[in-house]
Amino acid sequence: MGDAEKPLVSLAKHEKIEIAVKDALDRLNLPNLQGKRILLKPNVGRETENPLSINTNPKVVEAVFSYFKEKFDAHYYMGDSPIINTDTQKAFEQSGFTKLINEPDLQFLDLDEKLALELTIPDGKILKKIKMTGYWNDFDYIISIPVLKMHMHTGASLSFKNLKGLIYKRNKIKLHHLQVPEILEPYQATIENIKELDLAIADLAHITKRPGLAVIDASYAQQGMGPSSGEPIKMDTIIASPDYLAADIIALALTQPQWTLKNVPHLYLISEQRKFHPKTRNDIQCIPEEIEPFNHPIEPPPKTISIKYKNVNLVSKKSCSACLSTIFNLLKNNKEFVDDHYTEENPLNLAIGKGIQDSDLYENTFLVGNCTYEHKDKGIFIKGCTPVESTIMRLIKDSLEK
Ligand code: SF4
Repeated sequence: MGDAEKPLVSLAKHEKIEIAVKDALDRLNLPNLQGKRILLKPNVGRETENPLSINTNPKVVEAVFSYFKEKFDAHYYMGDSPIINTDTQKAFEQSGFTKLINEPDLQFLDLDEKLALELTIPDGKILKKIKMTGYWNDFDYIISIPVLKMHMHTGASLSFKNLKGLIYKRNKIKLHHLQVPEILEPYQATIENIKELDLAIADLAHITKRPGLAVIDASYAQQGMGPSSGEPIKMDTIIASPDYLAADIIALALTQPQWTLKNVPHLYLISEQRKFHPKTRNDIQCIPEEIEPFNHPIEPPPKTISIKYKNVNLVSKKSCSACLSTIFNLLKNNKEFVDDHYTEENPLNLAIGKGIQDSDLYENTFLVGNCTYEHKDKGIFIKGCTPVESTIMRLIKDSLEK
């Protein structure tokens, strides 16, 4: 690949993240977007009191919006479709987006509000069709604004993974439950830890490849147990590119220098979809050329997911990250209570995921989430998808009073 053909990635760093956004965008050649319909797609997937590095930093979205608004008289939208059981507007408000929601030149959208549109994916390996947001045809240009974060199931969550929020409602969760071993097996020989979910995200890339821009928010990146139980790491960095894959590759080069793309299987699969797709950092032209000053290695996600507490026995089989994160956050937020009421000999037994078997369960196991419904007579069933932390805690407390 000659330098002229290489996709361009612009990096900028500044304590005032709005300055980093402007610097990064200033170095790109943006198309003429006059009169176009532009979606700002941050990652606001969760209602959380501590959104730092879990949801996109609103300052980054504000800066992107101001930058484009100044340049182009266009129709601007901002929206997401969060994880199940999450109120979209509440998630945005809790994460500091109220000013943008009330911005007269920006229309806020709950992407689940309009009836779904089913799209076919002729080149899909595992997904042949998918229900997307009903707003799908209402945008000419999509700006994916993810948080740079590690992910316990997919290695990392970046620009492509953020577009999973364009899938309609519960159809997102279906991607976590695909089981097609005959399609997966040939990949397992060369890609460690690949799952059906990775194939599905890569399939989605066939349809989400449309004019757009990636602006990766690494004001605070999330290390370790992402997408929501990791630790925020201040990086003050923005990575922007009209090529989502190139932006994602550079984000990994900065934070996981030892990795190859196979550590994030969906990105490896996307890079292999076309001969001309970038495959390594060498296939990308960065501005500035030297990216070493931006390097900031962070902890990868753990290889095996285990609970550190001796007084908690968690059985997790084929669970998705939403349920796992709920449990991790619940244990983190209620550690004192759990330590006061459970011991190594008499642990808090929890089970999550679709793969749970009767033989995994003790009589007093809390079966958390709708995926465990068929075992409900074998323990204490707690409904929800995603189950709600406060409800789980209430039922645990109730059971202790009995
Ligand atoms: S019940 Fe839990 S594991 Fe099952 S789909 Fe819902 S959130 Fe995921």
